[in-house]
Amino acid sequence: MNKILSETNNHLIVFSDLDGSLLDHDSYDWQAARPALEIIRDRDIPLVLVSSKTIAELDAYRAQLELRHPVVAENGAAMHIPDDYFPRSATFSSGAMRRAQLQLAYTEVKMANAFNCEAFYELGVAGIMRATGLTEQQAIHANERSASEPILWLDSDDRAAQFEQQMNVRGLRCIRGGRFLHLMGDTGKAAVVRELMDAYARKWPGKALTSVSLGDGPNDLGMLAMTDIAVIIPGKHEHRMNLQTENRILRPASPGPVGWNEAMLAVLTEQKYDGGE
Ligand SMILES: [Mg+2]
Repeated sequence: MNKILSETNNHLIVFSDLDGSLLDHDSYDWQAARPALEIIRDRDIPLVLVSSKTIAELDAYRAQLELRHPVVAENGAAMHIPDDYFPRSATFSSGAMRRAQLQLAYTEVKMANAFNCEAFYELGVAGIMRATGLTEQQAIHANERSASEPILWLDSDDRAAQFEQQMNVRGLRCIRGGRFLHLMGDTGKAAVVRELMDAYARKWPGKALTSVSLGDGPNDLGMLAMTDIAVIIPGKHEHRMNLQTENRILRPASPGPVGWNEAMLAVLTEQKYDGGE
């Protein structure tokens, strides 16, 4: 870290979705974001991955990207924080619910309504491979979940709304992503990002913190509304990304890691943020 940067009092913290944001939607490649990633690493700026993937799936990306920061998995239902990363006074009150409890509620509602759907645990590794195109090892990692259950939805949209409503009555949430519904407890990316911001404030008391988040999907909107700067990456979906926030919004023109790089370079070059350590 150079001297000028280390004298700044402005710490940047980056929260990023993976699929369709830092990772290309189709190839899962992130190389196009390398210029911005190198600056982030050189300045020791925290980059927190916030994904629907599992901890096991995120491990590979943490290693590739050489990250030593927390990762948020399963849409906020699971998290890994490196040892001694935050002071002990930082606490996390997760609304996560154990996977076994989710499966119980799911089975009850499915049986009572004869919904046409298959949860990950019903599909098994072979079924997950068929439904997703993942390799066997990838399917095993995708199935290593602690607090969420993906459900392959084979019924109508109306029936999906009914299913979601019945889960809400039970205090559970459904997040829609592609062909899968993700069943989880009352938590989400936004709730976890807010708690992490509080934890960073305890880690660096008296420092000015600026947060930026990047995402491409409807399940990122809560997180995007939570940070000082929101980067809306163009997504490969039909949903309008309507963000209700007073905060600054950047909308790069390119999807995936190209847009990610473009927006982060703009943020990184205009102010002398650093990471704090
Ligand atoms: Mg995404």
